[in-house]
Amino acid sequence: MNKFLSELAKNLDPYTPGEQPKDKKYIKLNTNESPYGPSPKVLEAIKTQATEDLRLYPDPESTVLIKAASDFYKLPEEMIFAGNGSDEVLAFAFAAFYSGKKLVFPEVTYSFYPVYCNLFDVDYIEIPMGENLSIDTSLMKSASCGVVFPNPNAPTGEMIDLDMIRAILESNTDSVVLVDEAYIDFGGISCSQLVKEYENLLVVQTFSKSRSLAGMRIGLAFGSVQLIEGLNRVKNSFNSYPLDRLAQYAGVAALEDNEYYVKMQSKIIKTRKETITELERMGFGILNSYANFIFVSHSMVQAEDIYKKLKENNVLVRYFKKPGIDNYVRITIGTDDQMKILFQNLEKILKG
Ligand SMILES: *Cc1c(COP(=O)(O)O)cnc(C)c1O
Repeated sequence: MNKFLSELAKNLDPYTPGEQPKDKKYIKLNTNESPYGPSPKVLEAIKTQATEDLRLYPDPESTVLIKAASDFYKLPEEMIFAGNGSDEVLAFAFAAFYSGKKLVFPEVTYSFYPVYCNLFDVDYIEIPMGENLSIDTSLMKSASCGVVFPNPNAPTGEMIDLDMIRAILESNTDSVVLVDEAYIDFGGISCSQLVKEYENLLVVQTFSKSRSLAGMRIGLAFGSVQLIEGLNRVKNSFNSYPLDRLAQYAGVAALEDNEYYVKMQSKIIKTRKETITELERMGFGILNSYANFIFVSHSMVQAEDIYKKLKENNVLVRYFKKPGIDNYVRITIGTDDQMKILFQNLEKILKG
């Protein structure tokens, strides 16, 4: 044991991110990044901001980005928060609203949630999955405590509709319900407008997936003035300058060139559809997905074998060695060319 660790650090159980190989030989279908680059206007904005002014601290409030988000999402500025990637926003939310309290989330979900619970001393319960790894919404309704879930869920891709989200909000009015919309732009319906009706709703989004900016680290949250104030309390107790100057302006440019991103998102949705058809033809079982990934299994070949054999052939997908989902692989939707290479490799693997 490392004798230098504090009690806090000793008890941490850190998140394991998907592999980020240093060489470029792999087709990366493992961490749900976009296969398409960011809008050219975003790259231009970053270059314009790369000046001597970088010697100065950035605006601690990310005012330009909050303003642009306010126009884009049609929400008042005081109902918006910006953070250094949505993981940071989530961490602040867990600290602000759940530390020392009770929280529920689905058993099969984003694996960072239990990590934050451990860090911030949150007493959490995992809700067992229903049929086909679906979320048991009735147990979220009857929780009477904090509730967190991604919508669409990760790694399953399932979408919960707005009526159900309203029902969950209405039966947990004294606790914060956090909806993590990391994948909302791939065909889902956002509940961001509901923050005007429900003071206990916090919606978190990211620019990492649908806006091709994982390398930039931009996350947003939408919520009542009370909830945004809670996030700011934690932020200003941790790091008052979370978004750097380049990220703030990249975020603005990304919102201003939404047209570009809608095109890329539609392309990914089309490729998802075609990929599902092709994999079903090969005999894969595929969960219905509203995200830029699919969660698949095959009755003839173990998922771990599929993962390993694909990796040997330079195709990376995500495999979770966790009971209940250890016979699935999660495949990020890439370009059509990348999917073709995936199909060829899967055909070979199935032939044995
Ligand atoms: C990718 C992902 C995030 C993290 O996004 P960043 O903004 O890159 O930190 C959060 N939640 C879910 C469910 C994700 O899949």
